[in-house]
Amino acid sequence: MIVATIKETNKNEERVSITPESCKNFIQNGFEVYVEKGAGKLANFQDSEYIKNGALVLEKEEILSKAEILTCVSSVLDNLELSSLKKGSIIIGLFNPYENYKKIQNLVGRDLNLIALDFLPRISRAQSMDILSSQANLAGYKAVIEACSIFKKAFPMMMTAAGTIIPAKCLILGAGVAGLQAIATAKRLGCVVSAFDVRPEVEEQVNSLGAKFIKVEEGSDKKTESVYAKEMSEEYKKKQLNKIHEIAQNMDIIISTALIPGKKAPLLIENRTIEKMKSGSILVDLATSAGGNIQGSELGKKINIFDKIVYSPINLPSLIANDASLLFAKNIFNFIKNFISTNKKFDIESTDELLLKTLLIRNGKKTEYFYEG
Ligand code: NAD
Repeated sequence: MIVATIKETNKNEERVSITPESCKNFIQNGFEVYVEKGAGKLANFQDSEYIKNGALVLEKEEILSKAEILTCVSSVLDNLELSSLKKGSIIIGLFNPYENYKKIQNLVGRDLNLIALDFLPRISRAQSMDILSSQANLAGYKAVIEACSIFKKAFPMMMTAAGTIIPAKCLILGAGVAGLQAIATAKRLGCVVSAFDVRPEVEEQVNSLGAKFIKVEEGSDKKTESVYAKEMSEEYKKKQLNKIHEIAQNMDIIISTALIPGKKAPLLIENRTIEKMKSGSILVDLATSAGGNIQGSELGKKINIFDKIVYSPINLPSLIANDASLLFAKNIFNFIKNFISTNKKFDIESTDELLLKTLLIRNGKKTEYFYEG
């Protein structure tokens, strides 16, 4: 089969979905690999490395007309000349269906298949294919590094002849994949770290990373003891806001990552809280595209609110495009390999839940998991 990728065109996207390394893996598994000229350049992968590993480096039109599987990071929906696509092709990538469902709707009725790895279930069998996790992990790391680079103080404690610098205090909101990596990174950089999540079961993980787990007054919402924030009562939300308001005043850095997939991000930091925080504090909101955890955060902007910086990065993994692409491409390869049948074709009819839940369009028709908005 021919697997291919084209250059990402979104200006905030420097990653690539096939790397020279994954190209080698595909070829060893009997694929042909086509890569658009310069597709990996922004992630520091040169055309010559792809060629060395067996790929054909071609122009976009030729790739689209021949690719049986087209892989992409994020730009394809804005950038695809549908009429050029090979009939029956399979497009695989991250499409953010919760926000892009109207664009995805435009693909219905075309002779193509669309697989959105955004919807891959987070189960252990799928870990090696889980792009959201591999990229969120890097985002959590980079969020802390970004905060560190704009903070006008040092992160670790330093005892010098001229005096002692006290360590920065960092609060992480949401201890999922990005949050846990943010905790680990802030700890490595010498911060005193606290974290909050509505799932009580993450307390152990937070503690094992050396951070303090913040609890909202016990018994405030019995229902949330099960799992998700969607079950939170208004009473709990109020208590949560007040608790964070109290804790935040003592913090230098806040990284917020709280989200339930497909839902509006919970508001966790109100303006009154930002106002009370120490001057020069940095707040990084990773959930802005879903509504934001921090009041007033604006996607792609660093804004000054009451002498604090509220930063809402658009695409953190892209800022570490080389490593992010290596993991992304490996996830894509592992996913595709899982569905290659004995006749060396991608089994688009497979009933494996990993395909059923991610396949939004099969042969031009909406599937059961198509997200309508
Ligand atoms: P995740 O699902 O692994 O973690 C989210 C965590 O938030 C969960 O642990 C959940 O329990 C918690 N949560 C939900 N509601 C909460 C609430 N009210 N209070 C406290 N915690 C709450 O998700 P993830 O993969 O870690 O991603 C986190 C966020 O980062 C998402 O919004 C994702 O879109 C975003 N993200 C942004 C970038 C970027 O570049 N800006 C990159 C990757 C991920």
